[in-house]
Amino acid sequence: MLNGLAGYVRNRGDAGVEILLEGDDQRIECFMRDLNAEKPPLAQIDQLNSAKLSGKNEYQNFTIYKSSQEAETSGSIIPPDIAICNPCLKELRDPKNPRFEYFFITCTDCGPRFTIIERLPYDRENTTMKEFPLCGFCLKEYNDPANRRFHAQTVACPKCGPQAYLTTNQGEPVQTEDPVRLAGKLLSEGHILAIKGYGGFHIAASTLKEKPLKALRATKHRCEKPFAIMARSLDAAKRFAEVSSKEEELLTSPARPIVLLNKSSSYNLSSIVAPNLHNVGVMLPYTGLHYMLFDQVVDSAFVMTSANPPNQPIVNDNEHALKILGRTVDYFLFHNRKIAQRCDDSVMRVHGNQQVFLRRSRGYAPVPIRLKQKSKRCVVSLGGELNNTSCILLNDQAFISQHIGDVENIETRSFLQDATSHLHRLTNCKPETVACDLHPKFTTTILAREMADANGSQLVQVQHHHAHAAGLMAEHGLDEIVSVVCDGYGYGTDGEAWGGEVIFCERESANLKRLGHLEAQPLLGGDLASRYPIRFSAGMLSKAGVNVEKWLMKNGNHLPNGETEAKFILNQLKNDSSIIKTTSCGRVLDGVAAVLGVSFERTYEGESAMKLESVALGGKDILNLKPLLNGNVIDTTNMISMVYQNIGKISTKDLAYSAHAYLARGLASLAAQKASTQGVKSVGFSGGVACNQILAEIMREIVESTGLRFFVHEAVPAGDGGISFGQAVVAGFSRF
Ligand SMILES: [Zn+2]
Ligand SMILES: [Zn+2]
Ligand SMILES: [Zn+2]
Repeated sequence: MLNGLAGYVRNRGDAGVEILLEGDDQRIECFMRDLNAEKPPLAQIDQLNSAKLSGKNEYQNFTIYKSSQEAETSGSIIPPDIAICNPCLKELRDPKNPRFEYFFITCTDCGPRFTIIERLPYDRENTTMKEFPLCGFCLKEYNDPANRRFHAQTVACPKCGPQAYLTTNQGEPVQTEDPVRLAGKLLSEGHILAIKGYGGFHIAASTLKEKPLKALRATKHRCEKPFAIMARSLDAAKRFAEVSSKEEELLTSPARPIVLLNKSSSYNLSSIVAPNLHNVGVMLPYTGLHYMLFDQVVDSAFVMTSANPPNQPIVNDNEHALKILGRTVDYFLFHNRKIAQRCDDSVMRVHGNQQVFLRRSRGYAPVPIRLKQKSKRCVVSLGGELNNTSCILLNDQAFISQHIGDVENIETRSFLQDATSHLHRLTNCKPETVACDLHPKFTTTILAREMADANGSQLVQVQHHHAHAAGLMAEHGLDEIVSVVCDGYGYGTDGEAWGGEVIFCERESANLKRLGHLEAQPLLGGDLASRYPIRFSAGMLSKAGVNVEKWLMKNGNHLPNGETEAKFILNQLKNDSSIIKTTSCGRVLDGVAAVLGVSFERTYEGESAMKLESVALGGKDILNLKPLLNGNVIDTTNMISMVYQNIGKISTKDLAYSAHAYLARGLASLAAQKASTQGVKSVGFSGGVACNQILAEIMREIVESTGLRFFVHEAVPAGDGGISFGQAVVAGFSRF
């Protein structure tokens, strides 16, 4: 009996949970009240429908029916991994508790989910916990409805659960009673470790010692790419970073993402952790193991970067880890539970009081994004080429995969295939439509074509920036939007390189309208110009009539082949007609960064633009340039010329800020003006560049001052991690 009531509860999958109660009215009323007030911390009640039934009492007891296969499929919610909860953390520290110091302590409210589920329904035998039969003690708790671990599929204890062990980089066991704490000590002493977590391996190191960090940079081929760090506690994080209340909320949330925090004036970690940036990616421990790493050391944080060789997915298998990471690390901290699904950490930042996803993965994936309308068809979409995710759209739910990475080689390609078919299995969806990018040569386009051919489904190709804008529109339940979409590169409907766009899209149309864009600028050497922004600057400066020869000769040392390359560039510039061009906003920001001497090489995605933002923060719009429009094209040549001419007269900070202000003003005013003339009420900002706080703030001010509503992404990444979602929206809602 439940509060003196009889009946049952059963999971009806997509149709929700059904509870039948028999008993007196007062007790039932009381139950209904408790249902909301005393529900478990992670439970969420979307809607509560109740009806009084006639008939006589039939039940003696209250029964919890086991979930049926049918009930758990067709789009039921697949839980994400959840950080250790407070009651478990307390037990971890309680010498009287049987799970005292057990590194994988979990309960119904916490622990891994997505990364251990092999198939549905979510029962232990369908997870990688099946290899760990419950001991008598755990089984008793598992079967006790009054216990916090009732039907907790991850329940385990030191006797029956996964074990941790330490090895050398050759895989030889290191004898110790306490592998986790010894690992913490080794980190603190300056060793590099690979640490197996829920969804993959982290590479961990001290945040204070230069030697391991330099070694890591050398072997991971990451000259300056910032390392994410794990702070021992919120208080520790507050000692080296500024933490707003919104940031605190995210850091301590059950999803425990990495949050980009502004370095504080007392920042005392090594400058190699996040070089030349104003912020640093910080997360808090999310497993018992993480907490225990800090037990016997005084370090306030460790580097915890996902262990993936360049352009490859995160390492997830013990044998593979030894082979791939053996030369990078000194030791391995393994555990013996298999990883069913890889999953990198999520990365977020906060603009004002708004969360921005840089990567939506652990803790969030694959919880569906709820849409306002039901899709016309079931869609699978494969995203773009960089920072990829895939997505399944089923009715009003969009299941976005975990972060896949850059789909450039066989490993990431097969990770994308695995992750997508896993989503298929979990959602039990048979897609009628396959969506992908418009680029004819993307790996994802080729894969989508193969999938569509194999299943006889329809293939829908969605232009990159259209996908960005459509995703933003659907996330906010809008019917139409005029959106500024800024990023590094997207294949345009005319085959050209786009990236600084003003796009109109509406829910039921498969077509986009390009309302305007940034001026096309020469991309000298194609991909080389993305890697070395100085090439892009040279193109812009030359258009502006600046003596580019003098400038290039002065800065030629920043090109890999120095003066020879500079001369070659000058020759190319004379033959302007053959140079490919781009309207990319990312490239313009890179170009400004090179002109100002802030960054000359882009060794990781967004590097130059991120460093420029760091320099510009707190600056003033001294140049105060009025947007120069040529029809619907926003000039950037005069802007770069003005920036260049004022070097030495105005501070780099103010020039960097002025360039931001110019771009934001140009794009936002054009979008607002177009929206007004077309009678559209909503203006948005999407694309990877929308993670830039300065641009987003200025645009919001301009758009809202015209009485229009301004939208940015909150639930879906603004960058290319959100492309699969936008593609699915276009393919799912359009009338064909
Ligand atoms: Zn717990
Ligand atoms: Zn046990
Ligand atoms: Zn993009």
